[in-house]
Amino acid sequence: MTSAHIPVEADWDQAPSLMEGALNLELSAATCDLSYWLNAVPQGTLRGRVLGHSDSVRPLDVVRQEGPLNTALKQELAFRSLAEEKATRAIGHLVALAPDNDCMEFYATQLIDEARHAMVFRSHLLQLGTAERELSAEIDRLAADDRDAILVPLEDFGLRVLRDERDFIGGVLILTVLVEGVLAPAAELSERKWRVFDPAAADIERGAGIDEIRHLTVGSSILREHLRRRPQDKPRLLELMAEGYKLWGRLPTSEQLLRRENLFQQGIQEHGHLLGDYEAWPGRRLKDTTPQERMETGQDWAHRMQRTRLAFMGLEEAV
Ligand code: FE
Ligand code: FE
Repeated sequence: MTSAHIPVEADWDQAPSLMEGALNLELSAATCDLSYWLNAVPQGTLRGRVLGHSDSVRPLDVVRQEGPLNTALKQELAFRSLAEEKATRAIGHLVALAPDNDCMEFYATQLIDEARHAMVFRSHLLQLGTAERELSAEIDRLAADDRDAILVPLEDFGLRVLRDERDFIGGVLILTVLVEGVLAPAAELSERKWRVFDPAAADIERGAGIDEIRHLTVGSSILREHLRRRPQDKPRLLELMAEGYKLWGRLPTSEQLLRRENLFQQGIQEHGHLLGDYEAWPGRRLKDTTPQERMETGQDWAHRMQRTRLAFMGLEEAV
């Protein structure tokens, strides 16, 4: 069977990392239409990896058995799967409100991407000891508090703009800059943290990260084009950003990250020898890092991502 040419940015082996791709690539809704996606994603990125990794890639026993690594990863996966589910549902509004066919097709593909992310994060819990019939109850047990404290306020904000005000471009701004722009660097950190302990989880992150390059770059390009056509919308969008940043400031995200990193740290203390000289980022061995350091590194990446994306759109005053 001959396969069509897979674009480099969606190729499993050749795609850049999420941070690198989202900082340096330019993709538009017109490029990333439905025919692009059908070729690049189901037949490219996901070929042989419908559940996010190939069958032969599995977590190490120290992650499958009960212990701090198991708990840390389960909490993270449960929370992420709820976040992705909420994103999927919200993107339904972007599909409905899309002003043209390119944007409609692009958000229809992003909707499927996010639904897939929710599925793969959820289904990986089955590899970590959760029984299938207990999956929803386990997700609630692991992540309902964080869902109510973090995801629900963000969702309410997004739904006010998308569902109540029917503001397409405002919704793109919230999704691209406030939600994905903030969460993407955490996803990259997660891929790096789990690469040795659970290569399947790291691959799941890698695949989601490849999709995320597209979501961030296309969302930014839609905003940039919109502002070029309608510069009079800029003050309104800046106001929305300010409101969004204020909301983030009130959410207990640092507490959540610190809790997760402290568990991971216990895992390093018990099983760090398995990490060898593996580096979390160039020049820094994962087993030498501290919870604080990993958190701050993720936050640095998030700030860099936001500054770069906002400058590209012409909203640099927002930071
Ligand atoms: Fe996602
Ligand atoms: Fe996304």
